[in-house]
Amino acid sequence: MTLLSPIISMPQNSLKNVAVIGAGSAGLVTARELKREGHIVVVFERENQLGGTWVYTPDTESDPVGLDPTRKIVHSSLYSSLRVNLPREVMGFRDYPFVAKKKPGRDPRRYPGHKEVLDYLNDFGVEFGLIGLVRFGMEVGYVGMLENGKWKVSYRKRENDDVFANEEYDAVIICNGHYAEPRIADIPGIEVWPGKQIHSHNYRVPDPFRDQVVVLIGGAASATDISREIAEVAKEVHISSRSATSGVPVKLPGYDNIWLHNMIEAVGSDSGVNFQDGSKVVADIILHCTGYKYHFPFLETNGIVTVDDNRVGPLYKHIFPPALAPSLSFVGLPWKVIPFFLCELQSKWIAGVLSGRISLPSKEDMNVDIEAFYSFMEAARIPKRYTHNMDDCQFEYDDWLAAECGCTLSEEWRKQMYFISRKNKKTLPETYRDEWDDDDLIIQAHEDFVKYIP
Ligand code: FAD
Repeated sequence: MTLLSPIISMPQNSLKNVAVIGAGSAGLVTARELKREGHIVVVFERENQLGGTWVYTPDTESDPVGLDPTRKIVHSSLYSSLRVNLPREVMGFRDYPFVAKKKPGRDPRRYPGHKEVLDYLNDFGVEFGLIGLVRFGMEVGYVGMLENGKWKVSYRKRENDDVFANEEYDAVIICNGHYAEPRIADIPGIEVWPGKQIHSHNYRVPDPFRDQVVVLIGGAASATDISREIAEVAKEVHISSRSATSGVPVKLPGYDNIWLHNMIEAVGSDSGVNFQDGSKVVADIILHCTGYKYHFPFLETNGIVTVDDNRVGPLYKHIFPPALAPSLSFVGLPWKVIPFFLCELQSKWIAGVLSGRISLPSKEDMNVDIEAFYSFMEAARIPKRYTHNMDDCQFEYDDWLAAECGCTLSEEWRKQMYFISRKNKKTLPETYRDEWDDDDLIIQAHEDFVKYIP
């Protein structure tokens, strides 16, 4: 594939030395946009390959719920059977469409398995000459601002070296992902409950659940997939979620051994799990599909940037902390979004801001914008932990970024396809990946892709 890849010509003194932390999809597209703008880029990646989340491993962490800070860390949360939950036309980067490739070993399905995404990211890295920018196997242990306004980045070889090397950069962009630090439910009585617990971060295959009675907490995409998969081998699966509306436990239509409950009230030393609907089951395993925490163990900002109830802040447009802008930024924090497309726009904006081609408002104005956003959330009684949940407003956000960058707004087909797939995922969770009725939108998408694939 040959791509249109304009290099923007900037005066030399406006170009920066930039450290990017992480070579997942966010770090890669950030490196691409920085390179396009002419900045000098180094990407630090702890693992020995690119792809972040999309590097599947059968390995799991030493603490299955992820509470022990000294546990062996495994970055990826993928399970073996995982297929993407967005149609590939929507999921790919705008100017490097995620089209099926007729090559051995590739997965041409519209909702392919996880390896196809890793292959796509590797293709992206090669196509845009990014591999040479990545320092593989290098874990960043410290990022902090120096008196001269530059950033100190300390890193070490992950496997076998306790000695940190230090380097200085004009700017640091954090792309370390947010699906690696498990968040687990607070359950009264859990300290005496004798069963096993595991977080979905450490779920790979259903075999360990054979003949077990499992209580699965959560209602998001992974919870839906994993509950169905486990039910094929488990004795019983009891899903506990906020979204269960019925006051009594109900069997999931089409399944003999899956029940829907509302939240857990308490658990006891008799292995019992009591639900708020008044029902009780004696369970062997609690599986927490309860999401993740933002985690930046290497970042030292003297309290300027904090993580409070999963709000990373204060950040202007989920990217720049006003007091440290534009030299510190974050890519990829929003969730309930199309991540690759959103990160592409975020990083385009950052690259332009760093070179001075695009202006930021004053620090005061950025703070006013953030305060207005937080006040809106408070008035609407939206919990802090949903600060980066974009749900229905992602396209508004994407288009704001696109306008700042002077590029085309979100395509109509992309929006429609996203909303249709979201609806189908909810109403037809077992079949949405293999059956659809938006072929007209697929045609429109491919007409658009021609711009990028000559
Ligand atoms: P990551 O992919 O997590 O990459 C972060 C990188 O930073 C990693 O390579 C890590 O090793 C590195 N790193 C971290 N700390 C350090 C450090 N201190 N020093 C050096 N390197 C470091 N998205 C979709 O679009 N479609 C889907 O179908 C989909 N399914 C998903 C299913 C699951 C189970 C999960 C968990 C996520 C899914 N996502 C999906 C979201 C997915 O995470 C994003 O698409 C995207 O891959 C996130 O990219 P990232 O670069 O932000 O983070």
